[in-house]
This record gives sequence, C-alpha cells and structure tokens, in this order.
Amino acid sequence: MISLDKAGSRIAIFLVDGMRPDGLLAADTPFLDHLLTRGAYTYRERTVMPSTTLTCHTSLFFSVPPEVHGILDNTWKPFPQRIPSLFDIIREANLAAASFFNWEPLRDLWQPGSPVASFFLKDTPEDGGRTDREVTALALSWLQAHDWALSFVYLHNTDKTGHAAGWMSEAYLDAIANADRCIESICSILPKDTLVIVTSDHGGHDHTHHTDLSEDMTVPLILQGPGIPKGLEISQNVSIMDVAPTAVRFLGLGQPEGWQGKGIVF
Ligand SMILES: [Zn+2]
Repeated sequence: MISLDKAGSRIAIFLVDGMRPDGLLAADTPFLDHLLTRGAYTYRERTVMPSTTLTCHTSLFFSVPPEVHGILDNTWKPFPQRIPSLFDIIREANLAAASFFNWEPLRDLWQPGSPVASFFLKDTPEDGGRTDREVTALALSWLQAHDWALSFVYLHNTDKTGHAAGWMSEAYLDAIANADRCIESICSILPKDTLVIVTSDHGGHDHTHHTDLSEDMTVPLILQGPGIPKGLEISQNVSIMDVAPTAVRFLGLGQPEGWQGKGIVF
C-alpha cells in the first residue's frame, strides 16, 4: 500500500465545471487521456445533492455535506458553525495558495487574504472557451513567477456550453477538449513534485443539472504526482468531500476536525 503522506510539496487542482465522465471519455482529450495512464483515476466520484455549482464547490473545499454547510443553491450565506476550508489550512501552515476562475460566486469560498492571489475574469456567454483560455494564461504567468503550495484553476465553459447546447452535445464535447488544452499548458510548467488533481463539481443532463440523477451526480477524478500509482483505476468509493483531505495528506498537514471526507490512500 502506498501512502501519500509527505509525498510532495504542492498541489494543482483543476476543476472543469459540469464535466461528466462519459463526456471526458467521448471528447478529444489527449492530455487528460495520457494523465490517466500516469496517475490514478475514477469515473465514479460522487458529488453532493443538490448538484449545484456553489453547493458542490463548498463541499469540495470544506469537506462537509450540504446539510452541514447549508449552501443549497448558488447563493452564499454564513455557515451555522465554523469549518475551515482547504485554503484556511494552507494559510495556517504559512503556505501560499492562488485561485484563478471565471464564475464570480466562487469568490465567497475563501476569506480575504486567503488565497494570497485570487484572479477573477468575467465570463461572457458562448465565447468558444475564450475566457477559459484567458484564465489559463493568467494562471500560467502567476504560477511561474511565484512560490505556492496550492493552485486552484476553475474553467466554466463546459458547464455554460452544457446549459446552452445540451450535455454531451458536440459543442459540449468541444468545451471539454478546450479544457484539456488549458490544463495541458499549465501542467507543462508545473514542478515535478506537484500533485495534479482534475475533477468536476457536477455533471448534467439535457440542458441542466441540480438533480440526483447519476448523470448529474457522477464526476471524474484524476490524481497524478509523486506517490500516486500509475494507471490505477481507484476501486474504493470516492466523494467530492475526499479531495481536500487527500490534498492535506499529500502536503503532510493534519486533517482538521469536522471534515467528513477521507484522504484517498492507495
Ligand atoms: Zn450549471
């Protein structure tokens, strides 16, 4: 059994909003296809209900279910109890985090000053992935010029295209292909000790999501980096709440009290 403890020193999380596992399989994604063979993956990561963007991101970064954080739609409100986020844990360890995103409500996921750098680019309707590429360019230049322990890159266009053209439509698959190129260009500059995590917040069906249909609730997860087995399909059940515990374990940091996910151990 391989433990992730103290395996590396930085983590790059890529979130492709609304990417279904079968969308990843059907789209032209040469980089992510190769990443699968160099890392561990599952096509059965479960997200939380309601399968709504801010709800799911909150469970990802705070490792608690919606019943605990109380974010049940895309409107932020204070939690009923204090729960630290992955960004808080990074800051408390005196490490630097940065976020790059093009969907504004995500800014409530972190407190002012944590992460040390936060870049929001206003999205535009049906831009063919242009703002995803602009977010990527911003991340590329910042990550090369600074020292950091956590990078979060969020790409909105796949979800936006799913709503407009339909999940699994040709345009939707093209959006995933564009995300593949974006992730590839950032990964090309990452140091070798980086744990790369690629996942999504929810899937989708027809022109929507938010339901408990498996098309909405099931997302892919890819992990690649030091200590991660190569080409392993993860057999255990994985929840979106397990991403943050896996990240803190990789950095050798303790899991805070209250988090309900579990770090993935291979
Ligand atoms: Zn959506």
